[in-house]
Amino acid sequence: MPTYKIAIVGAGPAGYFAAQALQNLQSEDRIFAIDMIERLPTPWGLVRSGVAPDHPKIKTVSKVFEKIAADPNFRLFANVEIGSDITIAQLQEKYDAVVVATGSAVGKKLGIPGENLKGSMSAAEFVPWYNAHPDFADVEVPLTSDTAVVIGAGNVAMDVARMLALEPSELDPTDTADHAIDALKASAIRDVYISARRGPEHAAFTSPELRELPKLEHTNVVMNKADIEAAVVRAGAEPEKDVKSNLDAMALIADSQKSEHQRTMRFLFQHTPKEILGTDHVKGIVYSTPNGDVTIKCGLVITAIGYQAANIDGVPYENGKVVNTDGRVKDNLYVVGWAKRGPSGVIGTNKSDAAAVVELMINDLKSPKNAGDISQLLTSQTVIDQIAWQKINEAEIAAGEPHGKPRKKAILRKDLLHLGGF
Ligand code: NAP
Repeated sequence: MPTYKIAIVGAGPAGYFAAQALQNLQSEDRIFAIDMIERLPTPWGLVRSGVAPDHPKIKTVSKVFEKIAADPNFRLFANVEIGSDITIAQLQEKYDAVVVATGSAVGKKLGIPGENLKGSMSAAEFVPWYNAHPDFADVEVPLTSDTAVVIGAGNVAMDVARMLALEPSELDPTDTADHAIDALKASAIRDVYISARRGPEHAAFTSPELRELPKLEHTNVVMNKADIEAAVVRAGAEPEKDVKSNLDAMALIADSQKSEHQRTMRFLFQHTPKEILGTDHVKGIVYSTPNGDVTIKCGLVITAIGYQAANIDGVPYENGKVVNTDGRVKDNLYVVGWAKRGPSGVIGTNKSDAAAVVELMINDLKSPKNAGDISQLLTSQTVIDQIAWQKINEAEIAAGEPHGKPRKKAILRKDLLHLGGF
């Protein structure tokens, strides 16, 4: 029976959904032998290192990933880096098709003065820091001032602002990195601004995320009623469904404001960042607004204004994405997920996206190459395979149990490898 060898680079949602689409198209006449290659010692991508720890339900999709990984024709090669350990060209030579599923890991820049000051950082550093990503364990997050500012009106900005404005003991029953819980418990931050450069009717938040804000038990959430009312007028009599749903959710927030808590999350609209103030570290931020410049004193500024793909040698990039036509890159190279279409959509969006790319990829396939696989390319690397990953997974879950956490994540690579049996 013809067996096609497919390499998927990146073990995040887009990669798993590409594998699932291939598995769904296996038949008695063809088998897809899938090798998934991941730079980190752990799979699951943003489900492990992106999704906010206080949103455990979103992470249950990892059960789907583990089911995909249980297929006898699926192999995991984690802790293997494309570029340094092996190249894309080598994979293209060995495999019938190679799928890039490496996401968008680099935070976009504002391009304003002061952005490089200490205390100014991207969500692309802050989020993996609190989610125990091994490469971000040493990120310095200054939490000594009373005010932080988050820039952007999307769900990432919302996650970041919530993490800063929550009563940190609420994170005890989550899988937040221990170092982040400790730092947030010692944090002096009590006021968190979340700023949008346009009006509420243009915000990229989604309404379920807005609707959960009034449920925060220890945080005041403040939105200016006049801002929302003006947005409703601008949105007109027949706004799009999502816009209406967002404006309704925002009106509820504006109507149900609390002030009794020590911690506050405040929304600013029509605030365009102009300059971050400070000499060696952040002291404030200047916005231009329809009413003139506004300065907010703060010690921490986090930008959550979108991401771009981190480049891999041998893959063409343009505007922060892999150059592609409907997922086809060149020769037998394909791309799925955020690396293909940019950083938009929820985890489930990657399912239909990957299925469409896999369909055209299968139509491109000729007869199997039988040219070997990654095992001939690896020399001295310590590979975390599915069995080693399961050991890590089980050990983390067991370590979390006595603390009422879904897992206690190991953070350093050496600790992850140790849990994996190395
Ligand atoms: P996003 O939804 O595209 O939001 C980016 C925000 O940054 C927009 O409000 C945008 O404003 C703003 N922005 C861009 N450039 C700016 C600039 N120079 N100055 C000021 N603001 C600027 O991106 P995201 O928040 O990174 O989220 C990525 C995707 O992941 C989204 O699809 C999101 O829904 C999803 N996600 C979902 C969840 C969840 O389901 N809970 C959680 C996290 C992320 P403009 O509109 O004015 O450009």
